[in-house]
Amino acid sequence: MLHTPAESTFLFSIDLEDIRLRLDNPSRYEERVPLNTHRFLDWLRRIGQKCTFFVTGDMAELYPSLIGEIASQGHEVACHTYDHIPLDKQTPSQFKRDLEKNISALLKAGAVKVEGFRAPIFSLTSQTQWAYQVLADLGLVYSSSVLPARNPFYGWEDFGFKPRRMPGGILEIPVTMGHFGPLVLPAVGGVYFRALPFPSIKRIVRRCQREGIPLVSYFHPYDIDAEQERYMTPGINESRFYNFLMYFNRSKVFERLDGIMRMGFPMGTYSEYVEKLKSEMA
Ligand SMILES: [Zn+2]
Repeated sequence: MLHTPAESTFLFSIDLEDIRLRLDNPSRYEERVPLNTHRFLDWLRRIGQKCTFFVTGDMAELYPSLIGEIASQGHEVACHTYDHIPLDKQTPSQFKRDLEKNISALLKAGAVKVEGFRAPIFSLTSQTQWAYQVLADLGLVYSSSVLPARNPFYGWEDFGFKPRRMPGGILEIPVTMGHFGPLVLPAVGGVYFRALPFPSIKRIVRRCQREGIPLVSYFHPYDIDAEQERYMTPGINESRFYNFLMYFNRSKVFERLDGIMRMGFPMGTYSEYVEKLKSEMA
C-alpha cells in the first residue's frame, strides 16, 4: 500500500449530539439522530473510509447500540463532553467530572479506546486552556477543539493554523480555516461547508494539500437532514439569520463531500493521524 504522509489526511469528523435535547420541550420534535448517523455510516461504507465520531455522553447512554455499531465498523469514537456544556461554563473540576462521565459512557457503549476530545462549539480558547491538563490527566492524547480565528461564538485568534503540542503533551489539531474577504471561516465545517461557494472551499482544500496540513472538518447529524422540522436552534442567541443558515443547503452536503473525495485527500481517523505524526517525527 502506498504510504500517505500524516499531513495529507482528510480528518473528517461527526460531532454526535442532539441539539433537540437543549430545547425546552424536546419531545415535541422527532428523534432524528440515529437515522442521520446511519446515513453518514452508509456513505462512509460506500466510499470505504474511516473517520472519527466525537460523541456526547448522553448520546452514548441513549443509543448504546448505535455507538457500538460505529466502533464495530472501524470508526473512532472520541469525547464531546457529557452533555455539551461549553468549557467557559464549567470549572476545571466540573469539567474533569464531566469528562470522566463522558469517557465511561463511551466505553460502556462499545468504544474500544478513547483518545481524543472536541470541545462543544469550539469553546477551547486562550481563557479555557486549563482544559488541556485535564485531558492529559484522564489519559487523552489529542484535542480538536480550537477555531483559530475571531468568531461570533468562540475562537482563539492567535493560535495559528497548524497542529501543535499543548500543556500535558496534548496535540491540538485546530479546525481548517479559509479567508473569505475580511473573514476567516472554518470552510469544511457544518454551516460554512453548506453555505460558502463550493469553488472557494475547493481552493482551501488545495491549499492544505499544497502546504502539507491536514484538512480538519466537523459535521453533525443534522447537517444532512433536509427533512427535519424547523425550530430555533439553541445556543445561537435567537438569531434568525444564523437559524436560516442552520437549515441552508443540507441536501447538498453529500454531493460536496463526494467532490472533496474526488480531489484525492484520503480520509483517516484523528487517532491514526496522531500516531502517524508521532512515527514520522521519531
Ligand atoms: Zn457539538
